[in-house]
Amino acid sequence: MKYVWPDWPMLRRKILSKRIKLLILDFDGTLTAIAETPHDVVLEARTKEALACLDRSPSYQLAIISGRSLKDLTSYFHLKKTFFAGNHGFELKGKKFSLPLRARKAKKLAALVWLLGEKLKEDFSKVPGALIEDKNYTLSLHYRNISREYFPFFKQEVERFKKQYAHWPLIWKEGKKVWDVRPRVKWDKGDAALCFAKKFPGALPIVIGDDVTDEDMFRGLKHRAITIRVGRSRRSSADHYLKSPRDVRKFLEALCHS
Ligand SMILES: [Mg+2]
Repeated sequence: MKYVWPDWPMLRRKILSKRIKLLILDFDGTLTAIAETPHDVVLEARTKEALACLDRSPSYQLAIISGRSLKDLTSYFHLKKTFFAGNHGFELKGKKFSLPLRARKAKKLAALVWLLGEKLKEDFSKVPGALIEDKNYTLSLHYRNISREYFPFFKQEVERFKKQYAHWPLIWKEGKKVWDVRPRVKWDKGDAALCFAKKFPGALPIVIGDDVTDEDMFRGLKHRAITIRVGRSRRSSADHYLKSPRDVRKFLEALCHS
């Protein structure tokens, strides 16, 4: 995994050689620094400006793919042309996107996700700092704000839940201080990214993300994309890395001025 900036002249040449670029971005931890709770996140003005610049550019198509609900995600942006995917790809917004049947199956499982959320809320009401975010199709169990003394209990309870509801068609995936629970359907951020990429067959995809679920995007598009992880990691499938959301912003600005 190589740092972007020493390679920038080479990357820039590659980027300029393609007429259309499909820039696929994660939100939390990529465009914004991670905050105490998901509601405390701030999208900095300069990042907004860089995104607006790229949104206006005829050489770029932006797609922002997040674990947040589509409604929550889009509330941060005023971008005209950009595509959005919420709930890890279960919700798509953009022109002429319809979910394939297997992804639509997830809708039928939304009631189970809700029910599990209610059970988690009941159980974790005793754990200060635990936050259960019900996003319709998926849920997030945030543990960033749980104090050390409660953490062993939290961990034990998560394991108990996973075991007790193992027969439910749901997937538990651990990210950065969060457990994401979603329908067990073969559809993830990687599939959503591919779905966007199919609309632009000749475009160069540039994929940027920071977490486990973004690895599906890196793997799905690796053969033809520029893949960038936020934060260096030996286990990542991405070829390059940037150091922080601020570094991502500099990269977006550099694209804008290229
Ligand atoms: Mg992220």
